[in-house]
Amino acid sequence: MTPVRASESHVTFKNVSKTYDAQTYVVDNLNLAIHHGEFLTLLGPSGSGKTTSLMMLAGFEQPSSGEIFLGDSEISKLPPQKRGIGMVFQSYALFPHMTVNENLAFPLQARGMDKSKIEDKVSAALDMVRLTTIGSRKPQQLSGGQQQRIALARALIAEPRLVLMDEPLGALDKQLRDHMQLEIRGLHERLGVTVVYVTHDQGEAMTMSDRVAVFHAGKIQQLAPPRDIYERPANAFVASFIGESNRLPGRVVELNGDHCRVTLLDGTVVGGRSADVNEVGQSAVLSIRPERILLGASSANCDAQLTATCGGTIFHGDHMRVRLVHDVLGEITAKVPSSGLNSVPEIGMDVRFGWRKHDVTILRNNTQ
Ligand code: ADP
Ligand code: MG
Repeated sequence: MTPVRASESHVTFKNVSKTYDAQTYVVDNLNLAIHHGEFLTLLGPSGSGKTTSLMMLAGFEQPSSGEIFLGDSEISKLPPQKRGIGMVFQSYALFPHMTVNENLAFPLQARGMDKSKIEDKVSAALDMVRLTTIGSRKPQQLSGGQQQRIALARALIAEPRLVLMDEPLGALDKQLRDHMQLEIRGLHERLGVTVVYVTHDQGEAMTMSDRVAVFHAGKIQQLAPPRDIYERPANAFVASFIGESNRLPGRVVELNGDHCRVTLLDGTVVGGRSADVNEVGQSAVLSIRPERILLGASSANCDAQLTATCGGTIFHGDHMRVRLVHDVLGEITAKVPSSGLNSVPEIGMDVRFGWRKHDVTILRNNTQ
């Protein structure tokens, strides 16, 4: 790998580690280069080190070791207010005793901007989040969504080049969250700012991001565009954390560059993309998404073909889920478009199914 020059990126974490108790590393040797204008999301389960990473970038926590750069400048000695970073958190953190206008004016007053210029900026910021008429209200007179839009406007009002958002939509109901996702994405595109976004919600990460860094136990497991994360998981953690997958245990029998072959528990030998297996004889897991399992006649052109018993079907409107029970391999779920099935399998019927090898990922089995 070629080393990243700090100046090519907007933000660079270089060998950054953080421990609170001098024993466990909640961020463990983080190396990450974030491009100018990029929307990058830190995605991972609770406790994986996302907020700590963001707080170190913001300046509210100090790394135990390593360095963080903004462009070419190492920033660990800079206090938060000198870093020129906008921030939005889950709790809106608007000042309750101030009106919306006063909340928005605050970061500009702190910079000593003159009054008429502040008024212009506040009104432009209200326009930006489409809340032109509520400037004289107090935060408690606003809905959750309106408060969060004001928090967003406040983070952007001083025109930072970099904005950090930590689960900013976590407190909103689903409909509003979906709407705000589009709004934030739209603002990012219009303003061209770099956004570092934290969420534990994979759907949110997938729809909003240019790239996603999947966190687990203080380490980045994979850093890639959403589609790659979904279709080409780098290891078993990513494959199981993102989306739904069938997991079939097996053993590596052949390695060939990016591809490999495994023997499944019933003796069938099948091929697929090799993620992180590196040894013949190694214990592995074949991972395949339910929507990539093909049933009946459409399995005829598959690279692997098997027969199982139908364990039940569930109708979901646009698609159906079919439970396949295999004598040796166990239970496999298929997700098929409702329009794509000539006849719906009935419980107890034999079902022929299969998959194409390019839809399969073969992963090191970490549980053994
Ligand atoms: P995430 O945002 O991914 O949920 P955090 O970065 O908040 O994860 O936390 C990572 C780990 O660090 C957790 O185990 C958490 O309990 C611990 N942690 C976070 N902040 C502190 C703190 N101020 N003092 C001690 N431990 C902390
Ligand atoms: Mg957090």
